[in-house]
Amino acid sequence: MNKKPNHCIKCTVTSCANHADKENYCVLDTVKIGTHECNPTVSQCVDCESFVLGKNCSDNSCNL
Ligand code: SF4
Repeated sequence: MNKKPNHCIKCTVTSCANHADKENYCVLDTVKIGTHECNPTVSQCVDCESFVLGKNCSDNSCNL
């Protein structure tokens, strides 16, 4: 997979398969942002819907 960081999309979610690993950026050209709330009011209400769990992160070891 191309792990070239897209410097237009900052991201610190290292457990995501689309994270650039060495830099806190996403590698995708675009991402889809959505919400799980009917009336989002704070940043915690919104989600990156392009998130994919990284292969090496199913046991959360990548966050240690
Ligand atoms: S897909 Fe979303 S969560 Fe995953 S690295 Fe890109 S911006 Fe971050």
